[in-house]
Amino acid sequence: MAFYWVEIKGSARGGGTAQADSADAAKAIAVQAGHDESAIGRVRTLPYPANPYLNEIGWPDFCYQPETCAGKHSCQARRACTE
Ligand SMILES: [Zn+2]
Repeated sequence: MAFYWVEIKGSARGGGTAQADSADAAKAIAVQAGHDESAIGRVRTLPYPANPYLNEIGWPDFCYQPETCAGKHSCQARRACTE
């Protein structure tokens, strides 16, 4: 399982975190959460989950800059998002 940042056009924070086995599964989770398939953009991995969540994630939201950190292996914030 990994965390994915799913871009959702028109949503408050521009996307959401899904915990899934693959990018395709993360996309499917966003659709199940009620988002229109046509509004879903890129799906990239996240080092830590970020709010909002698209499915049940048993972790606190560590990442505050998901747009910056998506696709990276570690948090890009000057201070680690875990601090
Ligand atoms: Zn981060």
